[in-house]
Amino acid sequence: MTDASGEPIVVHSVQEEYFYLMVHRCSCGGPWLGEAQEFVEGGPELRHHVSGKCFKCAARKEFTFDLSRAGPQPTAPSVIRQISASAEPSRAVDAVEWADLARFYLERIQRLKRPVEKAQSLLDARQCTEEALKFFGPADAAPPPAAVWSDATRRKLAKDPDAYSRARLQAMVDRMPSIEELRQVDALDQKVFDKAVKEEAKKRVGKWWQVWKRFRRNT
Ligand SMILES: [Zn+2]
Repeated sequence: MTDASGEPIVVHSVQEEYFYLMVHRCSCGGPWLGEAQEFVEGGPELRHHVSGKCFKCAARKEFTFDLSRAGPQPTAPSVIRQISASAEPSRAVDAVEWADLARFYLERIQRLKRPVEKAQSLLDARQCTEEALKFFGPADAAPPPAAVWSDATRRKLAKDPDAYSRARLQAMVDRMPSIEELRQVDALDQKVFDKAVKEEAKKRVGKWWQVWKRFRRNT
């Protein structure tokens, strides 16, 4: 239901939840499909309960995310495909996992046909690389110990330290178009999203995250 300590998993966006679920798979190795989900608001706290079903073995698991740090963003269309507007490192996905996600999205581009899908994949890759870099202190050439949380990711880092070095990650970011450029190519989705936000506003629903229900990702 929650992380190993029993606490809800703190995320900066619903997007970050998606990446958490992608990395933290079922014990059989299968990916979780988010089936039911429910937002629970209490004072300043916003919790998101996601009921996952394993795509391979059909096992079920409940996840609770803490979205309180995401902040209200009713007028920010860029919220779509935005992992985190904060400079603080993720508390759901570690540095090695972000770097691996970035490479997954970079490799995926070659298999995609539509330019907008390629741009979206590159946008995800760029943001994942930036998330990995947020863990580095000014003097860190490699991810500091506090940035790598599991035995599995520590083993990966020990096996190929160069792949996770600041120099390598920075070189990846430097070769990618800027977030702004990528968002322009992603404008098709942004327009659809903006329209949905406006419609929700007209209905005076007033809860920015409810719009997300219409934008369940399929990639
Ligand atoms: Zn499974």
